[in-house]
Amino acid sequence: MKAVIMAGGRGKRIASLDSSIPKPMFRLCGKPILEYQLQWLKKQEIDEVILVTGYLGHVIREYFGDGTGAAPEGGRNIGIPLKYINEESPLGTAGALYYLKDTMKEDFLLINGDIIFDIDLERFYKAHQTFGGLATILTHPNDHPFDSGIIEADEKGLVRKWLHKEDKRKWYGNRVNAGIHILSPGLFLHAERRGLFKQPQRVDLDREILRPLIEDRQLYAYMSPEYVKDMGTPERYRMVERDLLKGKVEKRNLSRRQKAVFLDRDGTMNEYRGYIRTPEDLVLLPGTGKAVKRLNESGYLVIVVTNQPVIARGELTEEQLREIHDRMETLLGEQGAYVDDIFYCPHHPDGGFPGEVASLKIPCSCRKPEPGMLLKAADKYNIDLKNSWMAGDSERDMRAGKAAGCHTAGVGGLQNADFTCGSLAEFVDFLLGREEGD
Ligand SMILES: [Mg+2]
Ligand SMILES: [Zn+2]
Repeated sequence: MKAVIMAGGRGKRIASLDSSIPKPMFRLCGKPILEYQLQWLKKQEIDEVILVTGYLGHVIREYFGDGTGAAPEGGRNIGIPLKYINEESPLGTAGALYYLKDTMKEDFLLINGDIIFDIDLERFYKAHQTFGGLATILTHPNDHPFDSGIIEADEKGLVRKWLHKEDKRKWYGNRVNAGIHILSPGLFLHAERRGLFKQPQRVDLDREILRPLIEDRQLYAYMSPEYVKDMGTPERYRMVERDLLKGKVEKRNLSRRQKAVFLDRDGTMNEYRGYIRTPEDLVLLPGTGKAVKRLNESGYLVIVVTNQPVIARGELTEEQLREIHDRMETLLGEQGAYVDDIFYCPHHPDGGFPGEVASLKIPCSCRKPEPGMLLKAADKYNIDLKNSWMAGDSERDMRAGKAAGCHTAGVGGLQNADFTCGSLAEFVDFLLGREEGD
């Protein structure tokens, strides 16, 4: 597989740190961002990397050379053949693909040159092959969804909608383009049919190449909780540097065992108000945003597991439930917090409700106190359940947690748990305080 890195970014917002080098050459812990990326690509046994450079592109070339020979003076030999496309005038985020349209005959990786990441490529590529579209975007929840483009995909990964920063939004799921894509060569033909790539010209990857694929059902999103961060501001840049120092970046790679905090929803994250039927019914408990944010910054994945028998009873459609969860993610996002995934059980064992959905009126293995949702999440994200926690406010949650082999936290003073606490915030204080003490 080949990889293309878009390394022409100027990084105006963090130029205050150093304006004499292009953004991909900004150093974290003494090493340029691009060097982290290229070392990761080397580990993936990538055959060749094409670096698209622009502003101050010579700085990049002088540092990495052709990638195979001796290291350039003061630079680095990466050990993968490197090619350069230097843009005389800026061609946007995809204009340089014009130069690759006749040589890219296989699926390839396209990476933004200003992100620090570590992902399980094999898993990502398998997903792309299973989806079968022309492009798969790696998406993730981030800590500033309110000023990010939002991607909406169905349960099979097919992208249904893409809201750009300027598009109106009310309640939205926190699913953002992370800047890593797998593209199939058929994409060039798709773009050419729309009049692009006839000559070198400015092209916007998101708006002109990827978004038009939605209509033809050729764009997929691969959701990943792995570490991928952009450094748009000096604050974010310093945070990434701290994360690198703590080893957090590689720990999130899904080829490694993960640990998670599973959260019950009603009464644990949001006010208990009986069954929640509209987005406005969902009101976060005080302290939830901050507690979840602290978990996000720790090594734990945050996964919601909730029983939703209202679906089986026909009182709520899955689409309506999605809106309720969109509101939850919007409210969390406003506080810089996010959940990595949400699992729900739509089943209910007893029949006899008017309007019920017969196919869901079954005894299942996912309705808590059964541990099915936790087991499914563990399988999906390589989670070590013994190192994970289930936090909830009911006996059912505790039994599901125990059955899955997790530690349990009883919120709202619930007994019969490994740790009893008043609130989620109290549990997180205990859990993370304990980690720091380790
Ligand atoms: Mg509850
Ligand atoms: Zn179920």
